[in-house]
Amino acid sequence: MGKEKRICGYDKNVNDWREEELCEERKHGGPSGLCIFHAPNEEKTAEEFWTAFKKYLTRNEKGDLIEKDKIDCRCFEFPEDEEGFLTSGIRFPKTVDLSGAYFPKEIDFDGVNFEKGAYFKKTYFVGDVRFLSTHFGQNAAFYDVYFEAWAEFDVGFMGGASFLRCTFNGPLRLKGHYEGDLTFDGTTIYDEGYIRLEGNGEISFQQVRTLETGYLIIVNANLADWSFVNTPGLTNALFINVTWPTTSISRRKVVLDEKKIKKRKREILGVPSYEEVVNIYRRLRRNFEDRLAYGEAGDFHIGEMIMYRKDLFIKKKFLRWIFSWLYNLFSRYGESIWLPLAWLIGLFAAAGYFYWISAQSFNDALRSSFLGFVTLKINLSEGLTGWLIPSLQRIIGIPLITLFILALRRAFRR
Ligand SMILES: [Zn+2]
Repeated sequence: MGKEKRICGYDKNVNDWREEELCEERKHGGPSGLCIFHAPNEEKTAEEFWTAFKKYLTRNEKGDLIEKDKIDCRCFEFPEDEEGFLTSGIRFPKTVDLSGAYFPKEIDFDGVNFEKGAYFKKTYFVGDVRFLSTHFGQNAAFYDVYFEAWAEFDVGFMGGASFLRCTFNGPLRLKGHYEGDLTFDGTTIYDEGYIRLEGNGEISFQQVRTLETGYLIIVNANLADWSFVNTPGLTNALFINVTWPTTSISRRKVVLDEKKIKKRKREILGVPSYEEVVNIYRRLRRNFEDRLAYGEAGDFHIGEMIMYRKDLFIKKKFLRWIFSWLYNLFSRYGESIWLPLAWLIGLFAAAGYFYWISAQSFNDALRSSFLGFVTLKINLSEGLTGWLIPSLQRIIGIPLITLFILALRRAFRR
């Protein structure tokens, strides 16, 4: 009993589903009865904290904590004055666990080298936080982290990184280099989110939200690696100097998620449905229409319609599928002026050819073919060329003319 009373006993476990893990550090003598790390800031000075923290790191490298595989800083209450300690380019040879830690004021991790990566789970940053020239040798995991103010990163993520369900209440500036996969799934940005990342690996940008006054600026990204399933923030994202993946033949701008479906690995987790990709393109189309960027808007509209058509096929709505297929065939979903025109010329030539081989002179055949579009005269006595060809001309020609006019109108409106 006597020994038990001397330890802190703070429950460091940040997972509700696991058993409690009590802190075994000695009490520091304050009224809370906790150790220097877990005691509230009212009962300790910054100097006391950082002195103890330095000793704690030494014990992790050589001392009673050397056997531990990580530097356990869970639920530490960091002081309001940082004393420049973390800015000194310190290196951590073990994984650092800062889950549940509380930073009541601004904090800099400038030049810090997390050689084995770091965990930030439910960490709470009240003030500005900066990770400038910070190096993560292995995975950097930010789960459910709350960034109350400014958050700036200029980092090297050498073993991937996760920003899972994080909240950025202030502006986010995320720059740097990465190796391995990055995820931002479920993260919410309430202010400007500026992202400029270069590297190798897939970027999952799913379910990212920008709320109220929030918006995204994505710079220099190779979007062939980015997944955008269910990302409402796409609607008001600004893309600067990015590279979109394209289809091989038509060079239509697409998203990685469409390419994933094409690989026909639908049974594998993480491959989106057609409906989900329809929504991605819808958001992108709206975004680019609002910015009057009609080239991209057109591509994403075509993508939206193609994904919708494929979804119709899966749902066995074949009649609507056929109409969608024809709409694409004749006018590229209203995006092409030349396609319906080319079909009209082709139809004119084909009908003319039939009139010509049914013993009309070349000039008469051209005349008949032209009249076939514009008059309603049908001569039943003259067989095939008398009624079938003109009827077909009208049945196919009128929708083609309509598609042509609609495409023209869309082009002029823009
Ligand atoms: Zn403690």
